[in-house]
Formats: sequence, C-alpha cells, structure tokens
Amino acid sequence: MIQLDSITKSFLLGKESVHVLNGISLGIKQGEFVAIMGPSGSGKSTLMNIIGCLDKPSEGEYYLGGENVSQYNDKELARVRNRSIGFVFQQFHLLPRLSALKNVELPMIYAGISKKERQIRAEEALFKVGLSDRMDHLPNALSGGQKQRVAIARAVVNKPKLILADEPTGALDTKTSMDIMEQFRELNNEGVTVIVVTHEPEVAEYANRTIMVRDGMIQTPDTTERGRLK
Ligand code: ATP
Ligand code: MG
Repeated sequence: MIQLDSITKSFLLGKESVHVLNGISLGIKQGEFVAIMGPSGSGKSTLMNIIGCLDKPSEGEYYLGGENVSQYNDKELARVRNRSIGFVFQQFHLLPRLSALKNVELPMIYAGISKKERQIRAEEALFKVGLSDRMDHLPNALSGGQKQRVAIARAVVNKPKLILADEPTGALDTKTSMDIMEQFRELNNEGVTVIVVTHEPEVAEYANRTIMVRDGMIQTPDTTERGRLK
C-alpha cells in the first residue's frame, strides 16, 4: 500500500539546505504493523509527515495505494489524508474546548457526514476504546491514557486503511502505553495498516517489523522482521 522510492527531503535554513532524508526506499503492505525507531533528529517525524501526506518529498516517488502522490498540491494532499489516513500524536492534539464526543466528530465534519450519523459513529468509536462513560468530558478532565484513546477514536472514525502514530506513548507511563498499544493491535487485527514511531523497545515489540532510521537513511542490517533477520 506504501511504496517509497529514493525519497529525499531538504529544508532551506537561511541560505543553507539541510538534508534530512537521504534516499529512503521502503515498501509497506496493507495490514502490516511497522515500528520506526532511530536516534533523535534522524528524520523519523519527517518521514512520517511524508507518508502521511502532511509534507512532500524534495525528490523521489511516493505511491500510496497505487496513486503517485509525490508532487500533489496541498489541496490534493488534504483529500488523500481525509480519505485514507488517521493520525495519532504524542501530545494528543485534542481541542480543549470540545468534549471527547465532539473531538471525535471533527474529522466527520470535514468529510461532510450528517450530524446524526456523526454522533452515532463517534459514540461507537468511543465505545470501542472503552470510553462510553467519558464522552461528555472535556480533555482536561481525562487522564493521559484516556486522552490518547479519544485521539485513537478520532483517528479511526472515518475508517482509514492506514494509521500513523508518532510517539503515541511518549507522554504515557509504561502500563498505559501497553494499553494504548493493545488498541493499535486490535485495529491492526481488523486489517488496518499501522505505523508507529517510538523510542521504546517494548512498544516496538507490538510491530511485525522494525525499521531503523539513522541520518535520514534506513539502516538495512537492523531492519528485522519478527522472528527472523532479514
Ligand atoms: P525525534 O526522535 O527527536 O522526534 P526525529 O527523528 O523525528 O527526532 P525529525 O523531526 O524528522 O527527527 O528531524 C530531523 C532533522 O530535520 C532535525 O535535524 C530537524 O532539525 C530537521 N528539521 C525537521 N523539520 C525541519 C524544518 N521544517 N526546517 C528545518 N529543519 C527541519
Ligand atoms: Mg520525531
């Protein structure tokens, strides 16, 4: 479902060009559960932003579901994101003035779904992450783990085929982290492709494959598939 061919990404800092991704080629199949690891500053978030159509590569081709999205404009990228990708972030990114239910309804507003349908689907999504009794709470009245469950409900409510999570457990204690990873595992069991960036080996354990990024490149010898060295 994902094919990256020789992706590079540079940012212009003043007059200087900073090369962050230096030729990344990578294929990820529908239904995979992939962890991306690597040192701070190695380019993991930059790579996730490209995979998530939040940013464009400088060079190289990106095929998502067979569609070449490499040089799409902002509007086209937004359409691809809304249609097929759910996002989960370290700091949850919930809107503080909206209840859990309203936060989960948001992506459906962008997708033009009716109010009644939105409510039904948001309630279902919150039920699935075990938050039926917290739907009317504001984010501040929720624990970190509960906030991340709301974020997961929001990420899946439009039924995306791909979930991208950039350090989703970075702000959570170990037990809560494992609870959150169980949610991702369940989604993956339903056929959703999951890609998680993490610094924590016990989080990466949930994935079927770990990709190591270093200096903007994939470190092939360390790319392992669970149970056997590739
Ligand atoms: P961490 O583990 O700390 O989250 P990371 O692997 O996600 O790190 P990135 O956020 O992808 O790293 O950043 C990689 C490098 O690219 C860093 O040196 C960063 O300063 C640089 N960088 C990222 N975004 C930009 C930008 N918009 N403009 C200039 N440089 C950037
Ligand atoms: Mg990062």
